Order: sequence, then C-alpha cells, then structure tokens
Amino acid sequence: MVSRTVLVTGGNRGIGLSIARAFAENGDRVAVTHRGSGAPDGLFGVQCDITDSEAVDAAFTTVEAELGPVEVLVANAGITDDTLLLRMKEEQFTSVIDTNLTGAWRCAKRASSKMLRAKFGRIIFISSVTGLYGNAGQTNYAASKAGLVGMARSITRELGSRNITANVVAPGFVETDMTAELPEAQRDAYLASIPAKRFAGGDEVADAVRWLASDKAGYVTGAVIPVDGGLGMGH
Ligand code: NDP
Repeated sequence: MVSRTVLVTGGNRGIGLSIARAFAENGDRVAVTHRGSGAPDGLFGVQCDITDSEAVDAAFTTVEAELGPVEVLVANAGITDDTLLLRMKEEQFTSVIDTNLTGAWRCAKRASSKMLRAKFGRIIFISSVTGLYGNAGQTNYAASKAGLVGMARSITRELGSRNITANVVAPGFVETDMTAELPEAQRDAYLASIPAKRFAGGDEVADAVRWLASDKAGYVTGAVIPVDGGLGMGH
C-alpha cells in the first residue's frame, strides 16, 4: 500500500483524532492542526486556526517542509453554536459558516495547487447528517454542512480529470466532546430515532475516510457517504 502525506484539520481530538490515528496506523505521514493544545503523541502538529487564511497557508507550508505536499486533506474541524432561528444572532450564523464551510474551502484551495502538480489528490469533507436532514436549532450548522456537498461536487467537476477526488462523509451521532454536551433527554430522543440504536465510534467514521483516501476509491468522487446508523436514509 502506498504511504501518503495526510493533513487532518482538528485532528488533535474527537473524530479528527480517530481519523488521524487510523492513517498513522496505516503507515501514512500524518499532520494534524490544533489551536494551541499541541499534537497528541505520535502525530505531527501544526498550530492553525482555519478561519485565518494566512495561518492555513503557513500550516500547509510547514507540513510540506516536514512531511511533503499534502496528498490527502481531511477537512474535519468544525464547531456548533446552536439556537433557534429567531434567537440566533447573525454573528452566530457567520462564525459557524466561517469555520465549517469557509474554513474547509480555505484548506481545499490551498491543498489543490500541490495536488494538481502531483496529479493526485484526495479531499474529504466531514459534513453531518444534519446537513441534509436538517435539525431545529441548527440553521447555521446545517447550512455549513450542506454547503460542503456543493463544494465537493464543484471541486469534482473542476479537478476530476486530474486524478483528484472530493467526497463528503456525513456522520450521524458520534461519541465525542460535541455529543457529550447534549442534554440527556436529547441524547435519548436521538437514540430512539437511529435505526442502529447507538451512536458511532470515531473509528467507524475513520474507516470510511480511509477507504475514500485509498487507491481503491479512485473512481468514487462527488459522493456523500453516510456513517449514521441509518438516521438519514434517503439523502
Ligand atoms: P470536537 O468538538 O470534539 O472537535 C472539534 C475540532 O475542530 C477540534 O479539534 C477543534 O480544535 C477544531 N476546530 C474548531 N474550530 C476550529 C478552527 N477555527 N480552526 C481549527 N480547528 C478548529 O468535534 P467532533 O470531533 O465531534 O467533530 C469533528 C467534525 O465532525 C466536525 O466537523 C463536526 O461538525 C463533525 N460531526 C460530528 C458529529 C458528532 O456526533 N460528534 C456528528 C456529525 C458530524 P481545538 O481543539 O483547537 O478546539
């Protein structure tokens, strides 16, 4: 199996860390971004806030110097700031879009020039079941995650002939800090609506991401792969 240079944004914890560890176990050269926490043991860390284009550029430059050009980008970093539409401040909407959607775009744009030169690239966006299913209280988050689908498909149309794929993984509920913050009643309600009757492990999301990055998935592009226990069937 070919070993690749992989950058996982937000790979210092949560789902991103599961993804980063899965690539590292596979023998890939893995870098993760963090915002000051440092990198977990065994992973190469770069400090980067993806809302800052210059920081994104600097992070890629560092990874390129240390590990080589990024061949696999996993745009995973994301935030929530939930509240009902009528209560949501404009800043809550724009900040979630700036991180989850524009942040992913900044990274994809920066990665793509080197991928074009290499005539190889894998871009994987971590979206959410919410992006296509919708969720009360998440107009900002759902819009940001739905936007990733249009972005992946547009990249596919622009760069598909250059051996660059762009896909979306749409997890349902995954056991992480983000879901640990949910009120218990809400957790129970979500569990009741998931056909699999459980939340996912981060490793289950990582498996889908690793497959999309592999040579075996070279003809899979512009796709949305749900990893959601059947929650969003019909996407
Ligand atoms: P966590 O809250 O556990 O981690 C979020 C990660 O994103 C952290 O590494 C955080 O870095 C990073 N991050 C946030 N904002 C920025 C920023 N401006 N610049 C750089 N990094 C940033 O989230 P999860 O692991 O749960 O989620 C990961 C992805 O999966 C997200 O995109 C989320 O929307 C998506 N997802 C999660 C689901 C779930 O059930 N947990 C379900 C569906 C999708 P730092 O440590 O510095 O804060």
